[in-house]
Amino acid sequence: MARRPLVAGNWKMNGLKASAAELTKIVAGASSLPNADFLICPPATLVAQFAALAKGSRVAIGGQDCRAEPSGAFTGDIAAEMLKDAGASAVIVGHSERRRYHGETDAAVRAKAQAARRAGLLAVVCVGESRAERDAGQALAAVGKQLDGSLPDGETDCVVAYEPVWAIGTGVTPTQDDVIAMHGFIRERLVARGVASGQGVRILYGGSVKPANARELLTAANVDGALIGGASLKADDFLAIAAVYR
Ligand code: PEP
Repeated sequence: MARRPLVAGNWKMNGLKASAAELTKIVAGASSLPNADFLICPPATLVAQFAALAKGSRVAIGGQDCRAEPSGAFTGDIAAEMLKDAGASAVIVGHSERRRYHGETDAAVRAKAQAARRAGLLAVVCVGESRAERDAGQALAAVGKQLDGSLPDGETDCVVAYEPVWAIGTGVTPTQDDVIAMHGFIRERLVARGVASGQGVRILYGGSVKPANARELLTAANVDGALIGGASLKADDFLAIAAVYR
C-alpha cells in the first residue's frame, strides 16, 4: 500500500518568536517537495504564531504534548482542544522525554492519543526501546508492549514514531537492518491489532536523523518518514533530509 511520507520536526524546548524565520524557509522549501507531507511541532508558545504563518502552505503545525482532559484545574498543562484552537492539526504523544521526565505510562499516553482524536488532531504516538532493552534482546518485546498499551483500541488515524531512546540526540543510529526489522514488526502488530487500516498507518523513524544518514534510514521498508529533533531546528538540514523524497 502506498503511504505518503511524513517529515516531522520536533523542536522540543527550543525556539522564540524570531525562530519564525526558520519556519518561513521550511515553508518555502516544502513547496518544491510535493511527494511528502510536512509537520513542525514548535513549543506551545509558538503554535498560534507558526500556524498563522504556515496557513495555506504544505507545512502543518503540531503540539509536542497534550493533557488528556479537555479543560480543568491542571496548572501549566495544555489540552488537545487548546492546540487545535491555536491552529495545530497534530500532536506528539508519548515522546520518550515525556515518559522519562514526566513519568508518563503507556496508559497515560493512550489517554492523550484519545484526547487528540477527540479534538480532531492527528496523534503522533512515540515508542522506542532503551539501550538496556536492546542489549538484552528485548527491543521488539518492549516496543510491542508500548504499542499495545499506548494506542487506543480501533485507532485507525494516527502516526506511530519509532524512536529508540538510545538514538535520540546521541548521533548513534540503528543499522538499516535493525530499522527494517523493527518497522516490519510494528507493521505486523498494527495489522494484528485488528486496525483495519494497519497497512495505512505511517510509521516514522526518529533518532539522530541527519542529512548524511537520511537516505539509508528513510528508504528502509516500512519507514514512512521521519521524526526529527535537533536537525529540524535548521531549515537547511530539515529540507536536506526531506529531499530524500524528491
Ligand atoms: C526526537 O527527540 O524526537 C529526536 C528524534 O531527536 P534527535 O533527532 O535530535 O535525535
